[in-house]
Amino acid sequence: MLQRSILRLRSHLLQRCSALPTPGPPAAKALRLNLQTRLSTTKSSPPAHPRHPIPPPPPRTRPFYTTPFFTIPTAFILGYVTYTCTTTPTIPYPINPYSFTPHLITSTLPLSPTSSLITLSPKQPSAPPPSFWSIINSEGLWSVQIKQPQLQIQREYTPLPETLLQSEGRKVGRNPDNELTIFVRAVDGGEVSPYLLSRKPGDVVEVRGPVVTYAFKPEGALKEEEDIGNVVFIAGGTGISPAIQLTAHLLSQHTKNGKQRRVKILFASRTADEKLLPQLQELQKSGDGKQGGIKVDVEYFYDDKGTFIKKPDIEAAVVGLEMGNGGKDGRDVIMVSGPEGFVNYYAGKKGWKDGLETQGVLGGVVGEILKSRKQGGKIEVVKL
Ligand SMILES: Cc1cc2nc3c(=O)[nH]c(=O)nc-3n(C[C@H](O)[C@H](O)[C@H](O)COP(=O)(O)OP(=O)(O)OC[C@H]3O[C@@H](n4cnc5c(N)ncnc54)[C@H](O)[C@@H]3O)c2cc1C
Repeated sequence: MLQRSILRLRSHLLQRCSALPTPGPPAAKALRLNLQTRLSTTKSSPPAHPRHPIPPPPPRTRPFYTTPFFTIPTAFILGYVTYTCTTTPTIPYPINPYSFTPHLITSTLPLSPTSSLITLSPKQPSAPPPSFWSIINSEGLWSVQIKQPQLQIQREYTPLPETLLQSEGRKVGRNPDNELTIFVRAVDGGEVSPYLLSRKPGDVVEVRGPVVTYAFKPEGALKEEEDIGNVVFIAGGTGISPAIQLTAHLLSQHTKNGKQRRVKILFASRTADEKLLPQLQELQKSGDGKQGGIKVDVEYFYDDKGTFIKKPDIEAAVVGLEMGNGGKDGRDVIMVSGPEGFVNYYAGKKGWKDGLETQGVLGGVVGEILKSRKQGGKIEVVKL
């Protein structure tokens, strides 16, 4: 039964093929010939009614594109094109200080209506040596420059360490995907910060760096003053980012030399409603002084709660600092970081010399405190 239906089907197809107009286009002719040939050459069941003689298959000439002369180079070329089209070339360094490198925004985490955590990743994959990020992180406080393309201007932003939590088995300051995470606040009437906050994941921004703004090991420092000892960090707004970088460095260093140190951060923020940086929360957990020997203590002040950083707050922090190792295990440092007005108020104006920004004369609240206590010489003050 089945065999009979197959035979019927084959004869039907043969009829249809032979019914194709003979002077048809070559393709139709070829199709017909091919179909007839395939059907008629089925060995198991010869055609039931070969009403038309089936012409023998045409002599097979080898097409030019199947000759080894042609196929081998073609395969190479096609392979190369496929490879270059499907794989993105890797560049050795994700950032460099000399030219802007395109970075994709991979995520944004709004912390308040005017501030966000923005994560960037090199658009082209890069494979720096394993020591690349650890060298940058251990060199000093560093920032990158991000360009506003329409205006062709750039501003500095301070990347936050990847993570601080050692309990998760991740090393301090590690950056496995060459990502940069920055905390950005939009400045009213600003050029670059509103531009950055309006970017969405998938958008591209241009990044250049690193720019080291403060070297952890100053050139020509005495041996005992090469390392940073205890720190009081007075931070305003996004000025908290260098405080997190510095503490991450001290935590990573501690595991190396086991020194006991204390980091006191006085952090002034506009509003208590702004979400805390996850990195700051981690930093507090990591720096409990138990496992690391680094005691991290953050005190929060909020403009909208009327809790500003006042002179007694700094005096209390500085007293604690002097009670530490006081220079035996490194130099004690007071750092002031934030908007220009903030730095001026707490440590005095920065200066300019030969077209370069300098630390200027120590002044402000910190200047007053140190002068009155005659401790200024022992404590380094840094304006960021
Ligand atoms: C080393 C370094 C690291 C920095 N890191 C960060 C960072 O991690 N995150 C971050 O958001 N910013 C950071 N900044 C500040 C940043 O570079 C820009 O200055 C800021 O984003 C404003 O740029 P803008 O182009 O939007 O405003 P601009 O056009 O430069 O300024 C517009 C107006 O706002 C004033 N202004 C500028 N900045 C502030 C401010 N912070 N608060 C109040 N008024 C201001 C200016 O004096 C000017 O009058 C850093 C700056 C430096 C020097």
